[in-house]
Amino acid sequence: MLVFSVETSCDETSVCIMKDDKTILSHIVHSQEIHKKYGGVVPELASRAHLEILQNITKKALKDSGIRIGEINLFSATCGPGLIGGLLIGSTFTKSLAIGNNKPFIPINHLEAHVLSSFYSNEIKFPHLCLLITGGHTQIYFLENTNNIMLIGETIDDAVGEAFDKVAKILGLPYPGGHEIEKKALEGNENSFELPLPLIKENNLNFSFSGLKTSVNLIAKKNHLNDKFIRDISASFQKCVGNILISKLDRAVNKFCKNKNLSISVVGGVANNNYLKKCFQNFEFKKNIKFIYPPRYMMNDNAAMIAWATIIKHSNNHNLNFKPDPRLTIQLSNF
Ligand code: ZN
Repeated sequence: MLVFSVETSCDETSVCIMKDDKTILSHIVHSQEIHKKYGGVVPELASRAHLEILQNITKKALKDSGIRIGEINLFSATCGPGLIGGLLIGSTFTKSLAIGNNKPFIPINHLEAHVLSSFYSNEIKFPHLCLLITGGHTQIYFLENTNNIMLIGETIDDAVGEAFDKVAKILGLPYPGGHEIEKKALEGNENSFELPLPLIKENNLNFSFSGLKTSVNLIAKKNHLNDKFIRDISASFQKCVGNILISKLDRAVNKFCKNKNLSISVVGGVANNNYLKKCFQNFEFKKNIKFIYPPRYMMNDNAAMIAWATIIKHSNNHNLNFKPDPRLTIQLSNF
């Protein structure tokens, strides 16, 4: 069976052709550059760029893989959550291909695809915890199995990736800011500034990053933004984010999976951060836990994770009568 999948929920335009034995025949991710000069994603520009790019990369994916469109058995696309313009373009484009070729169309929940991405390269035992860290979401899920995924904690304001981007903007670093902060922090002193750890003492699994960003802003206003300051504040900020994530994961392990051989997957674009990976490693040593990750090309937004979610979960669940939903959650994912 061959799956053709599309991802357009934010500023990545991506298509993938995957066989049901996991073989990727073609995977193209086009990151839209246009947003860089605005310091963040502009939804209207993202929609226009998806429209321009999608057809070209679809043709290229078919050419690269040597597959004819008529040979595709299933078509799927991200249908939420995300920016509504991108969701409408990606899903309508893919649905048209499905109708034109008389094949099923399957709507995919973007968050569910992130959560399932680590299953592509790992044997996972249940129960399982998943930390999803991206520019749009910061969530912890408890998985009884791949059909029973429960949201047990999430950010009440900014997502962790968003906090990285906003702090980078305060410090005059380019967008996207996550990688820039990580680079600067490598040479900084993480104990230079004491930053708040919001919600860390509260008996829940929720996060808050907006106060942390405000604290960095207040400190930045009182200091010269020279290179030493930027390195030190970047390192202090990153250390603080690591402490917040670990403290909530620790709470989640104690609450849901105590005394079990547990694996925790970390998925989403922020899972690329090497400092945070080290924090997870240190936590691994203290507890009987193993951290696992998806392949690198499935961390940022991409169509391979959409194709993979289609294969493992939804291949019998085709549906042309869904509506794209910018606020879709996993609990509501039965279109
Ligand atoms: Zn995403």
